[in-house]
Amino acid sequence: SGRVSLSGSGSTDDSRWPRQNSLSMKEWDIPYDELKLFEVIGTGRFGTVYRGSWHGAVAVKLLHVNALSDHSVPLDTFKHEVATFRKTRHENLVLFMGACMKPPRLAIVTSLCKGMTLFTHIHLRKDKFTNNKSVIVAQQISQGMGYLHARGIIHKDLKTKNIFLENGKVVITDFGLFSVTKLCFGNNARGDSLGIPPGWLCYLAPELVRALRPHASLHLPFSKATDVYAFGTVWYELLCGEYPFKGQPPEAIIWQVGKGVKQSLANMQASRDIKDILMLCWSYRSLERPDFPHLLSTLEKLPRKRLARSPSHPVHLSRSADS
Ligand code: ATP
Repeated sequence: SGRVSLSGSGSTDDSRWPRQNSLSMKEWDIPYDELKLFEVIGTGRFGTVYRGSWHGAVAVKLLHVNALSDHSVPLDTFKHEVATFRKTRHENLVLFMGACMKPPRLAIVTSLCKGMTLFTHIHLRKDKFTNNKSVIVAQQISQGMGYLHARGIIHKDLKTKNIFLENGKVVITDFGLFSVTKLCFGNNARGDSLGIPPGWLCYLAPELVRALRPHASLHLPFSKATDVYAFGTVWYELLCGEYPFKGQPPEAIIWQVGKGVKQSLANMQASRDIKDILMLCWSYRSLERPDFPHLLSTLEKLPRKRLARSPSHPVHLSRSADS
């Protein structure tokens, strides 16, 4: 009796619901005029990140909007991805604060990350991460990623450039915005002929590498398991201080990963348990990769060097790797 009739047509057009939802996103709208933009922090493929101010320090990602109108990704996709982004609240994820949604001013406002990215620590400063520290960082990444996956969000671009370290705390950025930020703007002259930006390839799972086609990354089969593969590469970078397949040309990497050849771990200074995690995350078959809750518990059980361990708390890692 309390049911509201929407129309006389009786049609059940699902496509109207996302549109209605987007109305409730008004509360996340930030009027562009309220933003203060200071210096450019960096320019990605899709837009420019500014240090800014909006009720305090923020990071503002200003999208290159002329590119948006030239391409097929519509405003709806941007709104949809912003809607996903705003559903996230976790200690290890960057804080979404709002967005400017009126074209031609499209921007995403997040908290400003202090500290440096793992990429800067590992590849530019050549900071060494002890195994213990790598485990702590990996646990926090697993926590943030486990949360995202539990909410049905696939990161699609997990990499050390998108992970900040703030006084020992991991903050993951750039999740769920892949179509907007990478796809309509991504396949440009900065990449190679397949539209592959430098430093991207070694995060791509075999099923993604096999699906690569020139200018068609929109249809890549991203999944929770491809995020886990990317996590494996981050884990390798933490432990080894370099990218897998270092120094090899893209064609060689594509050929090897596509056939299931993995970076050799022969020269790696790490325990069996640590290498097992890597091999599981890099499993050729996506179903064989662990999920983040499983990774977290595996990481928590790793023996820590020079830390007293109670004998009543034995470790059975080899067993969990069988499952
Ligand atoms: P790509 O376009 O390949 O993803 P990228 O990750 O470097 O490259 P952006 O995500 O656009 O590109 O980031 C540009 C710069 O802004 C990077 O140096 C990044 O570390 C920095 N940055 C992004 N978000 C924040 C943030 N919330 N706080 C501080 N710095 C940020």
